[in-house]
Amino acid sequence: MIILLKPKIVILGAGYAGLMTLTRLQKTINVNEAEIILVNKHDYHYETTWLHHAAAGTLHHDRVRFNINNLIDRNKVKFIQGTVVEINTDKKKVRLENDEVSYDYLVVALGGESETFGIKGLKEHSFAIVSVNAARKIRNHIEYQFATYHTAGEKTEDKLTIVVGGAGFTGMEFLGEMTDRIPKLCRDYDIKENQVKFICVEATDSPLTGFDTDLVSYAMAYLEGRGVQFKLNTEIRECTPGGVIIQSGDEQEEIKARTVIWSAGIRGSTVIDRSGFEAKRGRVVVQPDLRAPGLDNVFIIGDCSIVLNKKDQYEYPPTAQIAMQQGITCANNLSKLIRKKADLETFVPNIRGSVCSLGENNAIGIVYGKKLFGPKALFMKKVIDNRALYMMGGASLVFKKGKLNLFG
Ligand code: FAD
Repeated sequence: MIILLKPKIVILGAGYAGLMTLTRLQKTINVNEAEIILVNKHDYHYETTWLHHAAAGTLHHDRVRFNINNLIDRNKVKFIQGTVVEINTDKKKVRLENDEVSYDYLVVALGGESETFGIKGLKEHSFAIVSVNAARKIRNHIEYQFATYHTAGEKTEDKLTIVVGGAGFTGMEFLGEMTDRIPKLCRDYDIKENQVKFICVEATDSPLTGFDTDLVSYAMAYLEGRGVQFKLNTEIRECTPGGVIIQSGDEQEEIKARTVIWSAGIRGSTVIDRSGFEAKRGRVVVQPDLRAPGLDNVFIIGDCSIVLNKKDQYEYPPTAQIAMQQGITCANNLSKLIRKKADLETFVPNIRGSVCSLGENNAIGIVYGKKLFGPKALFMKKVIDNRALYMMGGASLVFKKGKLNLFG
């Protein structure tokens, strides 16, 4: 009797890139063609692009996550809940905290981590919006500052001061949500709204660097109107338990604040560095078919990868949009490899645009080259969010977790 061993495909990470690969693959591959294993730290997937809602407390964290087991076809896929520590590409093995998995084909889709660029005290004393656990901690921390404002021995305004480091998409979206949350927090804890301070520290001369200037001016004016103070051309030099030291030109200043959110730096996974891949801050420049250089059986996608725009020689910024598109190409290429076809697809990002929310009632964006402000941008943001759910879990997931009030 001849027993044919099925090739083993291991996917690390159930974020946008990993789940997209998995859901495509389980549709295209037959049970007897390959064994598929998905490894993820938690038993749920979270919508990373919605974490700012959970961090600000405008959406419960259960709304931004869903159970992985509900998405997988258990005839074809085995799910292992585990934390990846290191990959050994010579031995084709992945070491988990409490386990080891071998593979024939590997997909590394472990996402990004906060990058503090060695700025003193940031790692220890600031928060980053990087996971459900982190978002929940931020929401609770801010609420605690408000809740204890009147009972702390000495009333200190720094409890009501929130510093955001970085006016990129994450920082601006978080500020939008937070300014929505303040009226309720103030009512709940008998605090006057004008006691609350938001300070956004940005190293460059503009928020959302490189984005359309009309849209940026609109977003900035909107947030300023809701009490956000922008400090441009200013860098955070140090973060302490009591606030931050900032520098603009030769001038240094201390801002006393009990809440510092760092949103100015993202890197790839430290697993990449630990595993000996040639990488820039945990991100690998991948081949056009998304495989790691020199490795025919390892794909690296999502925030762990760098895709170069060949024509203009720049790196595409890491986004959910690109991560999901890479997932589709990666699944197609894995199917081809399993079926011994040599004509692997080249990944070409299709950038349709980007939309930045400014809280529940406003947004800005460019979609297919068209500038959008206010309700139109907000509508588009919800369409994009729902589409991501649809692509990973179909209509039932949209009905369960989606943003169904498209015009509200
Ligand atoms: P992720 O979606 O982060 O998934 C990584 C997965 O790997 C997670 O499930 C994680 O738990 C798991 N994991 C990590 N480490 C380990 C480990 N060691 N072992 C096991 N599992 C592990 N992009 C956009 O395109 N549009 C937006 O509007 C937008 N808004 C954003 C707003 C916020 C607040 C943030 C933080 C990011 C935003 N982004 C946006 C960027 C986007 O979320 C990322 O580019 C995208 O999530 C990358 O997808 P990924 O699959 O690589 O990683």
